[in-house]
Amino acid sequence: MSEKKFVSPVKPVGMELVILYPCPYCGRNVPLLAPVEPSMGSCDMCKKQFPLVPIDNTTVQYIKLILHNGQAPIDPGYA
Ligand SMILES: [Zn+2]
Repeated sequence: MSEKKFVSPVKPVGMELVILYPCPYCGRNVPLLAPVEPSMGSCDMCKKQFPLVPIDNTTVQYIKLILHNGQAPIDPGYA
């Protein structure tokens, strides 16, 4: 017998907003965690860095609230 363990599907415990920022150098839409203050993002394609327009933190918190921090959108088949 192998020691393979059955791992049941894992439920999310939280969530973050991912925002797409178009890289000004190569044009790729770079997925980045929503920055709530001005910061630098780096392109995962051309590796260059560029400044980001921040996302309003109240909006981020609101979206997390209405989605119950990731619990609300769980597929009903797994609830
Ligand atoms: Zn780029």
